Amino acid sequence: MNRLYLGSDSPVKDVNVMTTLEISLVISVTEEPVPEESRWPNISYQHIEAGDFPDEDLISHFDHCYRLIAKAHEKDETVYIHCRSGTSRSATIVMAFLMKKHCISYLNSRKRVEKKRKVFPNEGFVHQLELYERMNFFANGYNQEYRRFLLKSLTYKLRSNGLSLGLTNNLQSKSPKATSRAERDMKFHYEYNCLKNYFKKIVAAEQTGDQFYDSTDTGPVYTCYYCNHELFNQINIITEKVSDYSCRDLFIEPLQTYCTQSDDETSGYLKCPNWNVSH
Ligand SMILES: [Zn+2]
Repeated sequence: MNRLYLGSDSPVKDVNVMTTLEISLVISVTEEPVPEESRWPNISYQHIEAGDFPDEDLISHFDHCYRLIAKAHEKDETVYIHCRSGTSRSATIVMAFLMKKHCISYLNSRKRVEKKRKVFPNEGFVHQLELYERMNFFANGYNQEYRRFLLKSLTYKLRSNGLSLGLTNNLQSKSPKATSRAERDMKFHYEYNCLKNYFKKIVAAEQTGDQFYDSTDTGPVYTCYYCNHELFNQINIITEKVSDYSCRDLFIEPLQTYCTQSDDETSGYLKCPNWNVSH
């Protein structure tokens, strides 16, 4: 790995190490970016916000990080990638880079990295690297498995938010009314931001995929029984089961058009946007 270093967070603060290695770009795959006071003037810093959890989404950063590193290498610059210990999050980004650069499998990429440093990506990151390999080294928005993963990661984020809210409730039980309202606001804010992020990721991935795929890859269109309004496509369906009375239950991804609907529509049923107009 020429001009690419993988390591822990401590050398980032050591100007001697950074100068000796001639680092021009630091990529931090961490919860928090490198603080202003620990930055050096001749180095540029990029932050990928991520924790070391199996459901943390690293895969949607693979292509972006590849471009960052490739661009630095074109200018003959040296890159330092780190997380806390340099064995899971940042190691995953480096393995994805090598996979894409050399068109090699996850296992081969890991072997190459481990010639220099033992790495321990968590099992979720291994799964993401294997999925990246199956998608031929780009995050393809039309890949159903990738979409499912993004949704799983979003659900995880929302759930961990719920847990932390539970904690707040216990701590501030003196004024339950105020807390519950603040909680509701915060929860909504969090869900809204998570969803916004999710839509952004799906759209970005679909646009990258446009070079290789056309819209027919989203599968058949499902339309409203009453007015033929186009509701969603096959690709948006997560699970499908035939229940009693030969009715089909479809569970679909969150869709931007339906996420703005008011309370009674979020009860689990999807309404056609024309519901009040022409039915
Ligand atoms: Zn309709």
